[in-house]
Amino acid sequence: MNSWLENMLGQYEPGTIPLEIFTLLLVLGLLIFLWDFFDRKYNNLADESDSLLTLEVLSLKDNDKFPTRSFRSKKLLLKGTPDALVKEGKFTIPVDLVPMSSKVQDRHVVKILTYLRLIEEETNTRPPHGILLMGKKRRVVKVKNTEEKQRWLETLIDEMHSIDEGIPAVPRPTEKKCKFCDVSNICEHRHRS
Ligand code: SF4
Repeated sequence: MNSWLENMLGQYEPGTIPLEIFTLLLVLGLLIFLWDFFDRKYNNLADESDSLLTLEVLSLKDNDKFPTRSFRSKKLLLKGTPDALVKEGKFTIPVDLVPMSSKVQDRHVVKILTYLRLIEEETNTRPPHGILLMGKKRRVVKVKNTEEKQRWLETLIDEMHSIDEGIPAVPRPTEKKCKFCDVSNICEHRHRS
């Protein structure tokens, strides 16, 4: 028996109310607690999604009402077009839709960090975060725009530019990626267990 229930039953005094009724009341109390817990959790998520709806939309990709906006950096030799831009106070916040995955991967974070960097260069204001809408349920994930993350992005951009200049790319095969890769049968770098 659940130790919490055992503990509560230990406080039961025979002769007050029948044990069956006491147990039933305990179970009902537990059910109400769990219902309240999950209801609050759901409402918190809903609040977060709803709060997005109250933000001023600045741009939506492929939408006539809110024209698509792209950012370009001559310094970084990069260009990016966020799925959407919203206004939070004085900040322009990029939003990226990731409909096919509910789990945040490095590549999703790198993409939103790149938008944050491009927006900062163009607006001279660093947005504090970007937003990922994950999976079919569009779970809201805020990616903080920290110095550390921007330094990580810089190393990746430097690596990308080196490859562009002719330095061979360093393959990083993983079992999972190579398993589903179309060219794994001819790739000399494929993961071997
Ligand atoms: S098989 Fe080769 S190309 Fe495909 S993911 Fe693995 S290392 Fe990359």
